[in-house]
Amino acid sequence: MEEEKMSDIGFIGLGNMGGPMASNLIQAGHNLRVFDIVEEAVQAQVRSGAEAARSPGEAARDVDIVISMLPAGQHVRDVYLGENGVLANAREGALLLDCSTIDVATAREVSRAAAEKQLNMLDAPVSGGVTGAAAGTLTFMVGGEDDAFARARPVLEKMGKNIVHAGGAGNGQAAKMCNNLILAISMIGTCEAFVLAESVGLSHDKLFEISSTASGQSWSLTSYCPVPGPVPASPANRDYEAGFTAAMMLKDLKLAEEAAEKGKVSTPLGDRATELYQAFADAGHDQTDFSGIINAIREKTA
Ligand code: NAD
Repeated sequence: MEEEKMSDIGFIGLGNMGGPMASNLIQAGHNLRVFDIVEEAVQAQVRSGAEAARSPGEAARDVDIVISMLPAGQHVRDVYLGENGVLANAREGALLLDCSTIDVATAREVSRAAAEKQLNMLDAPVSGGVTGAAAGTLTFMVGGEDDAFARARPVLEKMGKNIVHAGGAGNGQAAKMCNNLILAISMIGTCEAFVLAESVGLSHDKLFEISSTASGQSWSLTSYCPVPGPVPASPANRDYEAGFTAAMMLKDLKLAEEAAEKGKVSTPLGDRATELYQAFADAGHDQTDFSGIINAIREKTA
């Protein structure tokens, strides 16, 4: 569906992901009103042409679409349900898109609260990392009603290339949680393989050359390689500067673990991945990129 006019957008949460996503919308010609609790993040967008807001409510007032990209469920509750929040200020008929990765229950609760105010809300978490956010090639997994999804698609297409409707409210978060369970396990597996290769005299480049086109291939290997060299954009080339922090990965694993416990589903590798990321974060690496866990694996090997 083509947009009739360029929607005015309120954008809340301008961090590693939200910053480049907002920049892509500005570049596409949208008027943006932006808010973050970190003033410098706001000013960076103002320098690219956005208008600064002083609260979530101010960012949401009088715009057609509100987009948020926040760390976790509690931040989403605060921003949407708080006194000077989005629901209290958005105009009737506005479309609300939360792109954060949060628990399914919070996504459904905030969506219900929005519906009570005649506001359409979608959960639209993403996959693709900071490089995907910058390149506008994210995958969006979207939960919510059909007509809201149709309205959101033209805007989501300016930030991503795969836009998938996963079902009703909360189902985008359900998909994201399952995806990141795969990601955590595959990243640890990839790191273990590189460390093992080092110990048997196989170079990083050779393992990459072979496994990137063999059955060991995965996004963790070919888009986010945990050793420097083969994938220049990966955080390994910048001393594991995040990217996607270990704290965020741990948060997502805990969401999966909680859901597995509730549904009585056995996830032994998910349990182990959670333990390893917890230990990594506890050792002072919570703000390190999640691929930096290779160093913890290497230390245990030495
Ligand atoms: P980040 O910490 O870099 O950014 C979050 C931003 O939200 C920060 O700028 C912070 O100041 C702001 N914020 C926090 N509370 C706020 C509030 N009350 N009002 C306004 N702003 C507030 O995190 P990120 O890496 O951009 O991740 C955002 C979300 O996207 C998370 O849920 C994460 O799990 C998910 N995600 C991240 C990646 C990645 O590679 N970084 C990939 C996919 C999904």
